[in-house]
Amino acid sequence: MYNPVKTIKSNTIGTINVLGLAKRVKARVLFASTSEIYGDPEEHPQKETYWGHVNTIGPRACYDESKRVAETLMYAYSKRDHIDVRVARIFNTYGPRMHMYDGRVVSNFIVQTLNGHPLTVYAPGNQTRSFMYVSDLVSGLMKLMNSNYSLPCNLGNPEEHTILEFAQLVQDITGVKGKVSMKKSQQDDPHKRKPDITVAKTQLGWEPKVSLRDGILKTTAYFRKELGLVDNEQEQ
Ligand code: UDP
Repeated sequence: MYNPVKTIKSNTIGTINVLGLAKRVKARVLFASTSEIYGDPEEHPQKETYWGHVNTIGPRACYDESKRVAETLMYAYSKRDHIDVRVARIFNTYGPRMHMYDGRVVSNFIVQTLNGHPLTVYAPGNQTRSFMYVSDLVSGLMKLMNSNYSLPCNLGNPEEHTILEFAQLVQDITGVKGKVSMKKSQQDDPHKRKPDITVAKTQLGWEPKVSLRDGILKTTAYFRKELGLVDNEQEQ
């Protein structure tokens, strides 16, 4: 959103470049697509057969629409040039080594909790998301890449939480009590999001294994270290 034209160029021209290279060297291409292609969904949970509900001129469109056209490019090249493609539609993912200040909800809430700052919940707070731990995503991507399944495949954790619930959960898990500060709503913020993972289960034999509690504990430990809140003795 900070640099919309660069976002569109990366997703479209970047995908064309990769597909051109794949054609030349006969490589299989894995495209990291996104649940954002479903937009603010009118179908819940979201199956791969759902075509989505995206505002073409909204603030998220630079990302959503360019990821959508990148999917289109994958199948256009696949059909025309017989490139072997895999398309993962990745739902909200978190874990150690994510960027502390990327502005996303998991990093924001953990960093805010650890710094003793109020948790910024964007109104209304009853919007939902489903959070997948990074190692589950990696295993899903590897299984997809090694499978024969070439249609889009959702990878996400179907456990759904409202953002207010999630704010409470982060405080419970970290054991740090904080305040919630309600901020104004974000334009075109999807109201709900939860993957239907039947395709991944049946085609890849994949499902997420790491609970939100364990994942948030690991991520919090990482952020503590990054923020210099752990002394060397504790670290050992
Ligand atoms: N969100 C929030 N406070 C924050 C950051 C995000 O309430 O400090 C909300 C945001 O409005 C959205 C949800 O959390 O409804 C997930 O936001 P994020 O940017 O992490 O992911 P995305 O919207 O791309 O799924």
